[in-house]
Amino acid sequence: MTETLAAAADRVVRFHYLLRDAAGGDILESSRDAGPAAALLGHANLMPGLEAAFAGRMAGERFDVELAPAEAFGERREDWTQRLSKKHFAHPKRLRPGMRANVQGEAGPRTVTVLKVGSSVVDVDLNHPLAGRTVVFEIELLEVREATPEERAHGHAHGTGGHQH
Ligand code: ZN
Repeated sequence: MTETLAAAADRVVRFHYLLRDAAGGDILESSRDAGPAAALLGHANLMPGLEAAFAGRMAGERFDVELAPAEAFGERREDWTQRLSKKHFAHPKRLRPGMRANVQGEAGPRTVTVLKVGSSVVDVDLNHPLAGRTVVFEIELLEVREATPEERAHGHAHGTGGHQH
C-alpha cells in the first residue's frame, strides 16, 4: 500500500521539517505548529537539493539535508536594495522598517525586508532574510503516495499541507 512507495517524481510527499542554521543551530522555521508540508516531486516545488534528498525515501524515514547558501536562500549581496511602489504590497499600511514582506516579482513572490517606508514608495532589501546561511533541513517523512491526475496537471500537491482549492 502507500507505505511501500518510495519517493519519486509524480508522487506526493507529506513531511514535517525543522529548518536550522548549520553553524549556530538556531531554529529558523518548523512545520510543527502549522502542520506537515506536502509537495509534489518532479515539478520544481522544492529547492533542488532538498528534492534530491527525498528520492528513494520511504514513509517513516528521518534524514537531514544540509544546503549551502546558493542551494538554499541565496548568497547575501551587499547593497541589494530597491525602491518599490506601495502598490506591489498586499498590505502597504502595515509596512514597518525591519519587517518581512512578500512582493510579486518577475519570478513569482519573493520575501524582502522593509528598510524605509515613504508616502508612496518603500525601500526594501531584496536579499531573502535567510540569504547567506548554510542551513539544515531535518525531515521526517510521513507519507508517500501517488499524485492524482489533477495534481499532476496543476503541478502541485492538494490537501493537507498542499494547495487548498
Ligand atoms: Zn491545484
